[in-house]
Amino acid sequence: MIDLKHLDWYDDARCRGMKTSIFFPETSVGVSTAGIYDEAIKVCKLCPVADKCLAYAMECETNDVRRYGVWGGKTPREREYRKYGGTGGGKLIGLAPLQR
Ligand code: SF4
Repeated sequence: MIDLKHLDWYDDARCRGMKTSIFFPETSVGVSTAGIYDEAIKVCKLCPVADKCLAYAMECETNDVRRYGVWGGKTPREREYRKYGGTGGGKLIGLAPLQR
């Protein structure tokens, strides 16, 4: 489990206190995921620490090779694209639950 409480920037996070499911929506095999991140992305667009959040996610994902949920307003695929440039080198698997 990731504990964000030790991160200074998280004090200013717009998502503080919000439901984790907004940022980490459950998905089911065979069910469209279109729009599942829309609400989170709207929140992130107005977040003053979005850059730090994204950088943190990219750093963790580099170490863990795990991608899930919205960080810094970016979806797992968008972060994967940033990291691998669309080469398909990333792994889209689950990430431990987030403590917000
Ligand atoms: S960018 Fe989004 S997920 Fe990251 S701290 Fe801000 S509101 Fe939360």
